[in-house]
Amino acid sequence: MINIFSCKQPNHWRQLIQWLFFGWCVFLGVQFGLFVRHFESQGMSGYYPRPPGVEGFLPIGSLMSLKTWLLTGHFDTVHPAALVLFLTFLVMALLTKKSFCSFICPVGTFSEVTWKFGRKLFGRNFRIWRGLDLVLQFIKYALLLFFVKLILIDMPASALKAYLAAPYWAIADVKMLHFFTRMSTTSMLVISVLSLLSVVYRNFWCRYLCPYGALLGLLSMFSPFKVRRYEKACIDCGACSRACPQLIDVQNKARVSSPECTGCLTCVSNCPEKGALAISLWNRPVGGLLFVAIVMILFGGGVLTGMLGGHWQTSLTYADYQRLIPLAERLGH
Ligand code: SF4
Ligand code: SF4
Repeated sequence: MINIFSCKQPNHWRQLIQWLFFGWCVFLGVQFGLFVRHFESQGMSGYYPRPPGVEGFLPIGSLMSLKTWLLTGHFDTVHPAALVLFLTFLVMALLTKKSFCSFICPVGTFSEVTWKFGRKLFGRNFRIWRGLDLVLQFIKYALLLFFVKLILIDMPASALKAYLAAPYWAIADVKMLHFFTRMSTTSMLVISVLSLLSVVYRNFWCRYLCPYGALLGLLSMFSPFKVRRYEKACIDCGACSRACPQLIDVQNKARVSSPECTGCLTCVSNCPEKGALAISLWNRPVGGLLFVAIVMILFGGGVLTGMLGGHWQTSLTYADYQRLIPLAERLGH
């Protein structure tokens, strides 16, 4: 049970924020679904404005947008919010570790729920044999390498511009919606297996398979924030290591610099000894709540900058959607 009023527990505030974002994602999904339905029903169902926030679910296209922007100076106008959110999450990783994973990502929230459910069910979460665990962790980096090579290395600016101008990119968000609302049997099966594995093993998807998390994890190595253990105050109880959702052996580290650390502050909240464990900024301990506030300021600041800079609403018109959405099923096949 989350006691959000326990101000001394930054992890509780993080969980509250996590659930607010989860609720917000569901709300955006429903609103976007109603928007799409309006066009699919040829205007028979009511019109709802399109929420640009759904573009946060287009990380691969965002990587293409980012390269195009860096090479040509052109900021994508079709899905500008996708690039704004992507840049925001990259900056957040650089400054406040993988806080995107532990504060914002709905998949991270779902993973946390499933492994906690598993812990209740079996009395504990299981651990994969260390050697295999290391091999499996490599998968997400291999996937990241694949996208980096494909997009950042191999794709020339002309191909990227052509992609961003194509109808497929224009309705990439609609295709993403259809992935969830018209799920194929194979996708359903894969998601079910991953969910089951997440019940047994903590954060199975995030730990082994998510290339987005891998990218953010690598950037997070440069973050000035680190969890730090103060040996003189530490009583070696091991509560931090046991609590860490990323299976980091906090108890035996002076400073956590792992790319797996999401800055979730679970270890800090579980430490019973005052002054033994803290999130630190350039080696100086700072309050967990300050860290939470900085994460939120970075997110809000990123989105606001995009909005004020005119990079939030799509340039596509009502008539464009009228023409494109009925084609969604055929595009990309
Ligand atoms: S080391 Fe602490 S902050 Fe980092 S992932 Fe583990 S519990 Fe969260
Ligand atoms: S929970 Fe705190 S006191 Fe216990 S081992 Fe970790 S840092 Fe030390």
